[in-house]
Amino acid sequence: MADQSHLDQRYFVDQTIYNCPFCNRRHVSYSINAKIQFDWTDKKRCYAYFVRCHSCSNDSMHLAFDEIPTNHIGTISGGHRWRFAVDDDIDAGEFLDNAFFYSVPTSFFVLDERIPKVLRELLTEAEGSLKSNFLTGASACARKIVYELAILEKADGESYDERIKSLKGKHPEIEAEFFDTLLTIQQVTSSKVHENSYDGWSAKHLRIILAALSEVLHELYVVPALRDDRRKAIINLKTELVGTKKH
Ligand SMILES: [Zn+2]
Repeated sequence: MADQSHLDQRYFVDQTIYNCPFCNRRHVSYSINAKIQFDWTDKKRCYAYFVRCHSCSNDSMHLAFDEIPTNHIGTISGGHRWRFAVDDDIDAGEFLDNAFFYSVPTSFFVLDERIPKVLRELLTEAEGSLKSNFLTGASACARKIVYELAILEKADGESYDERIKSLKGKHPEIEAEFFDTLLTIQQVTSSKVHENSYDGWSAKHLRIILAALSEVLHELYVVPALRDDRRKAIINLKTELVGTKKH
């Protein structure tokens, strides 16, 4: 299987850098601006961390059942700021992503509004389910995304595989690797289907599937719109310079 590390989108890269879910900027610096704890049940404590993006100043919330040590790093505009204290010998991003069982926004990247609402909702639900380890629910959402996408794009096929192949055929402009990834994962996990014990993909498969699906949605609905915006901007500039063409 080809290297898919580029699809492995994380929330936290390390103690100082994360992928901001609000400004859609990857690798921006962040700090903790508030932390609280409360009782999840009478036996279980929950720790909430509020993280502020240093680029757009939006705050996201992250919940963990184990307390994560923090270092006070000073104040910014009179507000205290902390940083997660993670041992140097472990991958801090991986540790943080695993430690948080729930984040708001749940989506690694808030989905662009140009992506049809039904697909955005399903992808957000799938990511939320995956984060909470509801793998059957996340798998069902992922399949539903392919199903709904096939309807919207008038693709054919009676099964998940057939629909993906049809979508791939209809959209040669989209990186084939994303569709191939979706098919490969289905194939490596499909032996279980025949054993009749299949009830969904595992977390590691789901992460790749959801990353590939969000790339497909981005290429399908966002990239052409951005291209069109640029085209219109250039036409406007040209019109300003030379005026509209007289007929
Ligand atoms: Zn931001």
